[in-house]
Amino acid sequence: MPEGDAVYRTATRLRGALDGRVLTRSDFRVPRHATADLTGRAVITTLSRGKHLLTRVEGDLTVHTHLRMDGSWQVMQAGRRTAPGDQIRLILANQQWQAVGLRLGMVDLVRTGEEERLVGHLGPDLLGPDWDPDEAVRRLRGAPGRTIGEALLDQRNLAGIGTIYRAETLFLRGIWPWKKVGEIEDLNGLVSLAQRLLDANKSYAGTVTTGDRRPANQTWVYGRAGRPCRRCGTRISRGEMGAQPQERLILWCAGCQPS
Ligand SMILES: [Zn+2]
Repeated sequence: MPEGDAVYRTATRLRGALDGRVLTRSDFRVPRHATADLTGRAVITTLSRGKHLLTRVEGDLTVHTHLRMDGSWQVMQAGRRTAPGDQIRLILANQQWQAVGLRLGMVDLVRTGEEERLVGHLGPDLLGPDWDPDEAVRRLRGAPGRTIGEALLDQRNLAGIGTIYRAETLFLRGIWPWKKVGEIEDLNGLVSLAQRLLDANKSYAGTVTTGDRRPANQTWVYGRAGRPCRRCGTRISRGEMGAQPQERLILWCAGCQPS
């Protein structure tokens, strides 16, 4: 699942292809907006907010998309044929480029003035210009009895963390994922580390938390179930957190993150 850094990179690519250019084609392949037509309008810009993308278009319109589990935006030269069988949800094209949204989990078209209705619930964006660690901590503290593992994935607390950064951040801080939020002394240190990890990867197509970009060495615990911990040698544990059906993968080292 794409996390905040991947969505940030997607916004950067969409800005490069669409910003300031007039749309020559828009093709919404979702029932709700099947008749929408943005042709003739210039794209102003695309912003990322946590895992959400907001593409602002002339005339007070915003296209809101979310990659959810396996969605993506591909940017290619205008007129290039898209691969058959792809699950296209939306195409936005100008004379030079076309942006093709595949398997997008959400596609909405709203007034720009109504964006807050879609993203106003989000906590501080880890990669946003207005990142505010104190506000993220304040929101986390609002539910002290919750497990930190679940609280970090709740985008209302802070926006951008998925299962990879959750596992890696908790490992690096030596925190057992089921520890209660109220029992963690340095929440500010925790969210600030998560922010630094995402920020370090925002321009790079990968997730490296060890500082070592070689494919087998990029993470501490994520993707390493059953393998020895890089620090203590304990075999990395794998489990699930959260209530069904929303349980999500968690990896941890029982040696470095004791209960
Ligand atoms: Zn360990």
